[in-house]
Amino acid sequence: MTYDLLIKNATIDDTGMTKDIGILDGKITEISDDIPAEAGIKTIMAGGRLVTPGFVDSHMHYDKTLTLGDKETKTLDEAIEEFINYSTKMNGQEWKADIKKRAKAAARQSVQAGTTTLRTHVNIEAGTDLYGVEALNELKEELRDFVDIKITSLPSFYDGRVEQDKRFELLDYACKNNMLDFLGGAPFLHDNWEELTEKTFAMAVKYNLPIDFHVNESDQPDVRNFEQIADLTIKYGYQGKVSCGHVTALNAVDEETATRVIEKARVAKLNIITLPSCNLYLMGRIDKQPIRRGTTRIREFLEAGVNISYASDNIRDVFRPIGNGDMLEEGLLTAQVAQMVTKTDLETIFKMGTVNPAKALLLEDYGMGVGKQADLVIFDECSVAEALTNQATRNYVIKKGKVVAKNTKISEIVF
Ligand SMILES: [Zn+2]
Repeated sequence: MTYDLLIKNATIDDTGMTKDIGILDGKITEISDDIPAEAGIKTIMAGGRLVTPGFVDSHMHYDKTLTLGDKETKTLDEAIEEFINYSTKMNGQEWKADIKKRAKAAARQSVQAGTTTLRTHVNIEAGTDLYGVEALNELKEELRDFVDIKITSLPSFYDGRVEQDKRFELLDYACKNNMLDFLGGAPFLHDNWEELTEKTFAMAVKYNLPIDFHVNESDQPDVRNFEQIADLTIKYGYQGKVSCGHVTALNAVDEETATRVIEKARVAKLNIITLPSCNLYLMGRIDKQPIRRGTTRIREFLEAGVNISYASDNIRDVFRPIGNGDMLEEGLLTAQVAQMVTKTDLETIFKMGTVNPAKALLLEDYGMGVGKQADLVIFDECSVAEALTNQATRNYVIKKGKVVAKNTKISEIVF
């Protein structure tokens, strides 16, 4: 058998044994102890280095990325206002071109860091219509051999009933024309959040689309929207098909409420996405010491068996002025924030950036197994714990069986 790509001596699990991986037509075709080196048209000698499935960054904002001016915004509300000011200064075509240029730069950064699939929200504002959605669909097609991009709608519902109805008309058009992979929104930001959540579910069911909401991103002890989403998920038989980003308010509620709501999330098979880097920056702003961390209950979700992932969220924009779209960096931060730093903990953390978000994105051909898509990363370390702790160089990033990024670190120490 001849393979397009052969990876020799790869560490693929924690047994310490190495395996060879044969890749053909973009798929993992064989994993075994000894495939002859000449079987590969191209062969990478991994030399015992760690090889894992690529990162899945499940919550990003590619329409906002790299828009940072010189203004510091201190709260979520301020950042939203700043972004709307920025986006509505341009006409539709200008806005579309602006997004494509910035999003492509961000995608290059994500791929370089080992992300092989990502999901981005895109705002739908009055005035910008579906130009943002169009921009990201064009980029998705342009980059399809390098990274899979999934698109979630993020309609802003600020202008009252008539404008809200217009947003739903735009969403209906986008669904009909296959421009969205997930339906989303941040209903909790609006007075009629219950109605907006219901309407989004109804549209998702109509077009058989999964859902990806921003949920209760606040320091206040109000998780009613989260609870409503769990109830509706069960009502519509949507278990496993709904993601909830942030849910930071869960840290502010009492233990009894938290336990009850987490149990609902488990039954509804909700996919939780925690965004610690962005929320550490934006949350807890009204607190005097001690300042709350602004993350959700990561450990409690894990202990309850709820699927939880971390993601980058905003990168170098008014919502978070720093960030690299680097999931290994987000993983290490999550480990520290959640106080999960033993070797076993770090293995759990690593899954929160790979297999857990792949499940949230309903990726069926993801993983280290024969027949799966060959989306892989070769790290310059031999274990997951070392990769995270040392922020290992990602020597090779492989998408659909082809090398799409290579990185080398040159270091010299004189003693
Ligand atoms: Zn977000």
